[in-house]
Amino acid sequence: GYLDLSKQELEKEYSVLSKRFEEIKGMGLSLNMARGKPSKEQLDFSLPMLDTINSKSDFIGEDNMDCRNYGLLNGITECRKLFADILGVDAENVIVGGSSSLNMMFDTISCFMTAPAVEGCKPWYEVKNRKFLCPVPGYDRHFGITQYYGFELIPIPMDDNGPDMDIVEKLVSEDESVKGIWCVPKYSNPAGTTYSDEVVKRFAALKPAAKDFRIMWDNAYCIHEISDTPDVLLNIMDECKKTGNEDLPIMFCSTSKITFPGSGVAALAASENNLKVLREKYNYEIISYDKLNMLRHVRFFKNYDGVLKHMEKHKKILKPKFDIVLDTLDKELEPAGIASWKKPHGGYFVSVDVYDGTAKRTVALCKEAGVVLTGAGATYPLGLDPNDSNIRIAPTFPPNSELEVAMDVFCTCAKLAACEKILN
Ligand code: PLP
Repeated sequence: GYLDLSKQELEKEYSVLSKRFEEIKGMGLSLNMARGKPSKEQLDFSLPMLDTINSKSDFIGEDNMDCRNYGLLNGITECRKLFADILGVDAENVIVGGSSSLNMMFDTISCFMTAPAVEGCKPWYEVKNRKFLCPVPGYDRHFGITQYYGFELIPIPMDDNGPDMDIVEKLVSEDESVKGIWCVPKYSNPAGTTYSDEVVKRFAALKPAAKDFRIMWDNAYCIHEISDTPDVLLNIMDECKKTGNEDLPIMFCSTSKITFPGSGVAALAASENNLKVLREKYNYEIISYDKLNMLRHVRFFKNYDGVLKHMEKHKKILKPKFDIVLDTLDKELEPAGIASWKKPHGGYFVSVDVYDGTAKRTVALCKEAGVVLTGAGATYPLGLDPNDSNIRIAPTFPPNSELEVAMDVFCTCAKLAACEKILN
């Protein structure tokens, strides 16, 4: 690896890389690995869904209601059942919302800001030193919601089993101003980590100092497999029933990366106590969500099995894309010994830790060479990566031929940045 090279050898490597970098710049590339979006091919899989409803359709669902009209704030029954199967909960515990789960998460935090999650607790806006736990690396938009609402964001390190539960347990049990934690329990964004059974059980067994502590359980990638050996996540609601902690988790998911991002259907699931508080807010917020879209989704998939079959199609497209990323990293970065990464079994990202202190530089070099990456630091609260090391790669959107070139550029830039750093 680079750290074993003499100064002279490393300088030689640096000049080879610099030359290669200039060549790449000359190619005038314009590529993008920043967006966690499905590729066009994947979107096409869901086109037949648009034909499930037309002007000749029957719009009466299981509830005997006309889905073209107001009503059913919890969503149509058949869609609640579908999400109940996806999340592994009872349909009565599901609210089907609009087209974005992030929107439902924002609404949930917003709700508890003014309406106490538990009677007798202060609404969160009155808790001046309110804190939220943020497993890192994580999803910037999660962190952003609690930043917007004035929480102090506390980074919690993650390993291959999930968040460091020793730290979580300590903070949660000792500090009443810690009000919640963001979790992407399966194929986390960006590391692709699935929480181990032990971690899930420890979450279910938390004894928070704050009676209104809540776990934001964002299962965005619950059925988003790319491997033939999928990870298996323990069901947190089942575990919480055993520990009498049913009010702890609020679960979220959506069909954004199943059908159409921005035009899919989102849902949350929670205990009756939590639903009571949330429904009170939704009652004022909206009359009812888009039931035609719910109907469209249910008629397209028919049932949970139909959803899983559909996910197989996505997997066939995504597997080769992840292979390109991981094979290039193995081939180009492994020998240099300056970076590490995980091989996810699902989800939408590959998380790469480049040589400490070079993530920003790597992203800047890539940009100069015509390859846009997610901003360095984005995976940390307030955009502050203490090691300036983590970079999130999103392989799903670009065509494979572009992805190959972009990964080549990425590896060249990561190596160049590492050489600079070690030499200086
Ligand atoms: N949650 C996670 C972990 C995500 O990565 C994303 C999108 O990238 C979302 C939520 C957004 O979901 P939605 O489109 O349902 O708002």
